[in-house]
Amino acid sequence: MVHGMPNSTLEASPNAALNKTILPKYMDLPIPEGKIQAMYVWVDGTGENVRAKTRTLDFIPKDPSDLPIWNYDGSSCYQAEGGNSDMYLYPVAIFNDPFRRGNNKLVLCDTYKANGKPADVRGGHLELVDTNKRHSCLKAMEAAKDHEPWFGIEQEYTLLDMDLRPLGWPKNGFPGPQGPYYCGVGANKVYARDIVEAHYRACLYAGVNIAGSNAEVMPAQWEYQVGPCEGISIGDQLWMSRFILHRVAEEFGVVATLDPKPMPGDWNGAGAHTNFSTKAMRDENGIIEIEKAIDKLSRNHLRHIQAYDPKGGKDNERRLTGRHETSSIHDFSAGVANRGASIRIPRGCAEQKKGYLEDRRPSSNCDPYSVCEALVRTCILNE
Ligand code: ADP
Ligand code: MN
Ligand code: MN
Ligand code: MN
Repeated sequence: MVHGMPNSTLEASPNAALNKTILPKYMDLPIPEGKIQAMYVWVDGTGENVRAKTRTLDFIPKDPSDLPIWNYDGSSCYQAEGGNSDMYLYPVAIFNDPFRRGNNKLVLCDTYKANGKPADVRGGHLELVDTNKRHSCLKAMEAAKDHEPWFGIEQEYTLLDMDLRPLGWPKNGFPGPQGPYYCGVGANKVYARDIVEAHYRACLYAGVNIAGSNAEVMPAQWEYQVGPCEGISIGDQLWMSRFILHRVAEEFGVVATLDPKPMPGDWNGAGAHTNFSTKAMRDENGIIEIEKAIDKLSRNHLRHIQAYDPKGGKDNERRLTGRHETSSIHDFSAGVANRGASIRIPRGCAEQKKGYLEDRRPSSNCDPYSVCEALVRTCILNE
């Protein structure tokens, strides 16, 4: 047994079993002058998973518009039928590649059909659903630009072994009840901090505006925060941070899941609390604006629940039970420092009479473009 890694993980994961001392020999090879690798990353038809593929470039891109549009097989990503499967990747944001380093890049893309329309899905069922959520989010952000909307998202996630059991949990039983694990330290409190540390550094290197990280209430559950970011960049940054998380965990032979309730029963679920402010909320006496926004949110609860997980509310049904620091999916509520409410006003903001609000409803696997679009349309554009 490798120190600190349960046997079952090593045996089940070919990635963890590979000899990790061999790769650096190749990564250190000098490569032809002027050539770089660009890994294009995009969201697939599940609205939840990311895909990626690499191409060689003979220049260093500075702006997404420098980069070529590229094609991919939409039918293998639940976004097209086999007979008409060519789809297009439009580069929207460039990050430094923490895996290949040097001048190599990660390129976030949004997805389009051959007719130039944003991607949709026909997977499993006949109903068409937009799967390029960025396209309409960007329109809302442009319309709301003068209000300078800021977002900070708290991304919770759970580490699983290859059997999809939370990492470090006994195979035939459960860890002790929740209590000691949140922000915990020690070998019997937290599992796989290596992954958390590697992810944090990789995000900083990449240029993701990561704000912090902490161990969560359920053992093997963690959180990091991205933000504050203005406008559309919150979605771009959060999606790239998720790609980096899955990619780092892959190297360790561990699965990172964004499922909002990985373990039923008396275990906390996982959310993506979304902290939101406008310029007026951040200014003196902004609390009045925060209260106005909460009033609008109270009258649009259903619309927000539908936008806050990839299954239109079905995923959050398992999580928003009114227990385990959540509100009930059926009711809207708001309160200062209240972690059982839909919307929480942080105590510091109530005291300073300005700042931001926290929407606690978005599920960990939400699409941040959908969540932030809904907030902007309800609170700023009054739609
Ligand atoms: P919690 O107390 O709910 O665990 P965190 O510290 O995890 O809160 O996250 C708070 C988030 O709020 C951070 O990601 C931060 O970037 C974000 N944030 C701070 N100020 C603002 C603001 N004015 N507007 C939007 N987001 C903000
Ligand atoms: Mn937090
Ligand atoms: Mn949390
Ligand atoms: Mn929070």
